Amino acid sequence: MGWSGPAADALRVAPGFDLADLDTRSTPGWRGKKRAGRDATAARGRELADLQEKLYAHGRTGGDRSVLLVLQGMDTAGKGGVVRTVLGMVDPQGVALTAFGVPTPEEAAQHYLWRIRRALPAPGTLGVFDRSHYEDVLVVRVEGLVPVETWEPRFEEINAFEREVVESGTTIVKVLLAISPEEQAHRLRRRLERPHKHWKYVPEDIDARERWRDYQQAYQEVLDRTSTEHAPWHVVPADRKWFSRLAVTELVGRALEGLDLDWPVTEVDVESELARLEASEV
Ligand code: AMP
Ligand code: MG
Repeated sequence: MGWSGPAADALRVAPGFDLADLDTRSTPGWRGKKRAGRDATAARGRELADLQEKLYAHGRTGGDRSVLLVLQGMDTAGKGGVVRTVLGMVDPQGVALTAFGVPTPEEAAQHYLWRIRRALPAPGTLGVFDRSHYEDVLVVRVEGLVPVETWEPRFEEINAFEREVVESGTTIVKVLLAISPEEQAHRLRRRLERPHKHWKYVPEDIDARERWRDYQQAYQEVLDRTSTEHAPWHVVPADRKWFSRLAVTELVGRALEGLDLDWPVTEVDVESELARLEASEV
């Protein structure tokens, strides 16, 4: 049981990857069932807490590294649950969550990357984007909110932007949570059947669902054109929530480990401070 190799290897988008062929109930790279998956998520979470504290300490002592998790997926794909799982296991002090919805009038008046730049994680921070700049080549394209001449050049622009972000010290972890249309129908039905979940539902969810194929094509092009060496995409099958939560926890854990940070060495003379403490009279 456990990961048969690095999760990133099993989930990273390889050349020729076809989203239409993905089994959204599969668990690539993971050998084991739900129970073991949940246990592994909790165990990894305890390590994550330590790794994130190291990152925070690094930032507080002048370091420039950070990690940014970018989550994309259709409605009900489980972005919120993944955020809850991953961020629920670390110190809130060192994290920055931003959910990107329909641009506000202020945002709409600016370049589409304006609100993204403002939300980039500060040094020492684990940032999470619930939706992102990719909406500007997804919903914007499918709903025809801007003409093709406007969104087409954005793929290259996004690659260049992300390169700049990576070069400034941020590791970017891009994750597409992929569900099947059947699973989405099931989740939307449950949402509608339970009054305490009605707040999550908007009629536009069905409008988007009706354009499922268009969205899949738009997502495919995102994967084809923006899965770069510096910021590759990972596709996580998300019909099984326990797996998507496990997989993203693992990917973030690996990214934090990859920073290879040590605890900062203090400039304080610890021995003499201890002596001062002992001698201090209150
Ligand atoms: P939710 O994630 O369920 O809160 O929904 C947020 C909504 O905002 C989704 O329907 C997105 O498609 C929409 N959205 C996010 N970014 C943009 C954007 N740049 N332009 C238009 N709609 C967007
Ligand atoms: Mg929604």
